[in-house]
Amino acid sequence: MSHEHTARALRLRNRSSVLRAMLRSGATTRNRLAHELGLSAGTITNLIGDLTDEGLLQEAGQLPSDGGRPTSVVSVAPGGAYFLGADVGESGVAVELFDLSLEPIARTFEEAPSRSATAVEIAEVLAQAIEETLAQAPDSGRVYGVGLGVPGIVEGGSAGTAEPSGPITIYAQSLGWDQTGLESICARPDLPIFVDNGAKTLAAAESWFGAGVGTSDSLTILHGRGLGAGIISGGRFLHGAVGSAGEWGHTKVSIGGPQCNCGQRGCLEAYVGGAALALKWRDASGSDHATAENLVAELLGAEAAGNPVATTIVAEAVEILGVGVSNLVNIFNPDRVILGGWAGLLLTSAHLETIELQTRSASLQRPGGQFDMVAAQLGSDGVALGAALLAVEGLIAMPATGHVERARVGATP
Ligand SMILES: [Zn+2]
Repeated sequence: MSHEHTARALRLRNRSSVLRAMLRSGATTRNRLAHELGLSAGTITNLIGDLTDEGLLQEAGQLPSDGGRPTSVVSVAPGGAYFLGADVGESGVAVELFDLSLEPIARTFEEAPSRSATAVEIAEVLAQAIEETLAQAPDSGRVYGVGLGVPGIVEGGSAGTAEPSGPITIYAQSLGWDQTGLESICARPDLPIFVDNGAKTLAAAESWFGAGVGTSDSLTILHGRGLGAGIISGGRFLHGAVGSAGEWGHTKVSIGGPQCNCGQRGCLEAYVGGAALALKWRDASGSDHATAENLVAELLGAEAAGNPVATTIVAEAVEILGVGVSNLVNIFNPDRVILGGWAGLLLTSAHLETIELQTRSASLQRPGGQFDMVAAQLGSDGVALGAALLAVEGLIAMPATGHVERARVGATP
């Protein structure tokens, strides 16, 4: 490798470190940044100059300093880049537009035409939601990509590398999407497309800005109609050999047991997935609510009001969920467990302590005493924000004027 080549690679790596640090921790001074990244003041000044020229950073006022000259503060330039993040679910898609400060500035939700939408139907509502959200971007020339958080397993692409991507395939067996090419879900020749499983994008968002900040060994649980987990171990995402790691909803909690959407029996999500809980409550109460979200909210309301049937269903769900989480605790020894997704947020609003207690009591004593359990902090926007972060990673890896990859897979913590 030539000297020139090595120097360029080093500069690119340092640029990435500065941009990432600025995005994650907000406004700062050159000195603080130099200290945090272990780079010289001169290097930091040059890199900030380059990033300002790219339109990504800006001067943000001055801090008084004792005796000496005031110190200038730099921050990201919010309008320097925009990203779309999509939470692709079974019941519809939510697309959000974020500026470079990662604040959401527009949001579109498109409902799927049916509750068991096909990939083709989801692709149509996704295209519409992307179009509507994109139209609200203040500068469409500065939209650097769209990230998708999808249900199911994502394979292919080139996770976390600058290599050209191979074809990306999504396998959402529970939705009946067998081997769906990314291009048949989302085809936008004008925008780089990034994709990962929704539990992993939620984990990335919580790790950057939410309940996972400051830990490098966390489990983030996406508890919606089904259950998935984003596992960060030693600061790295667990993807598995090909990408399916974290399909926790299909771990078995009984032999036989209720039928799961995946075709097998006794899966955790067949007991406590949001769809399963909704069905249990509808059968028990005769409620005519149409959506799983409304049914589970009604179940928890009835339980809070002392309804004995609701109380039994919720108590059983909390116990089984605790058993399911304890299996992960024993295997991965996390120091934080983050519960998110719409069903997770509903359950934790009233039962976080009990879920934590059930998890500890079903775990081995040592790992069972070494984690804390918290609700996801980013609410229902976490999957979309984490998906947008996939596109942000593209900009972190390469200067804005350079080559941006067409499609890439893989969340990073
Ligand atoms: Zn299953």
